[in-house]
Amino acid sequence: MKTQLVYLEDSYIKELDAKITDIREGVILDRTIFYAASGGQPSDSGIIRGKSDYTVTDVVKFDEIVHKVTGEPEIGEEVTLFIDWQKRYSRMRLHTAIHVVSAVAMKEFKARITGNQIYDQNARIDFNFAEWNSEISGSIAKRVNEELTRNQPVTHQLMKRDDILSMENSLKVDEKLLPDLDILRVVKIGDIDIQPDGGTHVRNTSEVGTINIYKIENKGKNNKRMYFSLQG
Ligand SMILES: [Zn+2]
Repeated sequence: MKTQLVYLEDSYIKELDAKITDIREGVILDRTIFYAASGGQPSDSGIIRGKSDYTVTDVVKFDEIVHKVTGEPEIGEEVTLFIDWQKRYSRMRLHTAIHVVSAVAMKEFKARITGNQIYDQNARIDFNFAEWNSEISGSIAKRVNEELTRNQPVTHQLMKRDDILSMENSLKVDEKLLPDLDILRVVKIGDIDIQPDGGTHVRNTSEVGTINIYKIENKGKNNKRMYFSLQG
């Protein structure tokens, strides 16, 4: 039985009862709220509490979600999961902001995102973009902040692969990176962004605050790297 990924249904659950179904290079659970690093968002940290506290040192996605832990948990153990919520919530805000930045950059500047990384207090985005100057980054920040302060709901739904991929601008990553499934989880941010996505987001753009682009780097002719933090 595959682990139920409870964070995909509700990213705000901070603790959850679960059961250890297997131990294979780490703990396998019947359900989990621990996010395994992917799409630039780091793994959650936290604790699995059973007969004792097992500290989660990493979460890895193989064919199953594997929780690397300290201590010696056992198969069949009933446990309670606690994620480090402060870190996760900060990443949910940054992750949601990246969607809005990517949507604005694509719509208004035809700039495509080639990579991103979320840190604890800031995030990095790489763009395929020949022309970049402080005027453009100022203009992106202004447009992104206008969209964020419009209090747009962030929702998710399941859609047929062909239906979502045929929508304009819905594909923000290489299609090969998407799960090989006919039905995909799709995340929609008001009227600004829609894309297949397995990450965690806030419920409304008002929770993000506003972005502050504080550094731009040239990483080659067509590659620009941008760093931003959040305010509010
Ligand atoms: Zn996302």
